[in-house]
Amino acid sequence: MRPFDYLRANALDDAASKAGDGAQFIAGGTNLLDLMKLQVMTPETVIDINNIDGLDKIEPHEGGLKIGTLVRNADLAADPQVRRAYPVLSRALLAGASSQIRNKATTGGNLLQRTRCPYFYDPAMACNKRDPSAGCAAKGGVSRMLAILGTSAACRAAHPSDMAVAMRALDARVEILGTDGATRTVALDELYQLPGETPEIETCLEPGEIITAVILPAPQPNATQSYRKIRDRASYAFALVSVAALVEMDGETIKTASLAFGGIGARPWADAQVNAMLEGEPPSEELFGRAADVLLADAVTDEGNDFKREMTRRALVAVMREATGMAPASTGTDKVEALT
Ligand code: SF4
Repeated sequence: MRPFDYLRANALDDAASKAGDGAQFIAGGTNLLDLMKLQVMTPETVIDINNIDGLDKIEPHEGGLKIGTLVRNADLAADPQVRRAYPVLSRALLAGASSQIRNKATTGGNLLQRTRCPYFYDPAMACNKRDPSAGCAAKGGVSRMLAILGTSAACRAAHPSDMAVAMRALDARVEILGTDGATRTVALDELYQLPGETPEIETCLEPGEIITAVILPAPQPNATQSYRKIRDRASYAFALVSVAALVEMDGETIKTASLAFGGIGARPWADAQVNAMLEGEPPSEELFGRAADVLLADAVTDEGNDFKREMTRRALVAVMREATGMAPASTGTDKVEALT
């Protein structure tokens, strides 16, 4: 690890005044410290924001909830208000990382964690995200964990967060404090920038800006919420594909649907067209298949991650069957048992 200066901020304006070129805020540090040890990130100054009062609260806000940026992932998942009104968020958090990491990782840090593209973590490999215009070693490389939507010729990295996928389905907004002391809120799709030709620019945050909170809108009391994550092992693994869903029925018809996907997008992925085509329709396997077609229409895959098309389709259909009360599809288990 390279030498760096460590500063502790006691207030937001103190943090802003300490921020400058080459500075990096730190809270839980569960991703940043790894990146510093690997010399993928080499900040000259690290500003610890853990001592700033008021950023570790979960409070009622305009019928919804305001989640402070320093709220730990474990505390957020266990919060009674979250479990009761936003169970999709609680489940997504518990599907991420390990309990030790969830005890340290914060809400703001989770949103800003970097991709787990293996080439990004290896400074010996070319990576446009780490070193602009260096090239992309993932081209022709191992692509199993890479995104298939929102990618560009410059970068195919997937966003790794589970929490952010649930927040995207919930239409969360992110509160940001600017260096001028003004606060603004942005939707998650505005926070995250698609890679385009500048994959090193991942968010709309300007230098010195701090995420102070995430705001969840008022809950939908009649919506079924679910989070399904498919991964290579049962715990402590990033998603190959995940789906967060909030679905409200009106009798036999889908009244509202909000789906978001992880593991497949350059950012937590949602498609308004997919939600719109589900709404007002009676649930059916055929409808869900068409929704998957629309979702995946612009997917770009290679041999190593083409399986994500079918995996995403199946995950979408399974989650929608469950959320709309359709019987689960047959797994063929009875047949297997009969054969053994
Ligand atoms: Fe870097 Fe993106 Fe290429 Fe991965 S996919 S090596 S993060 S440029």
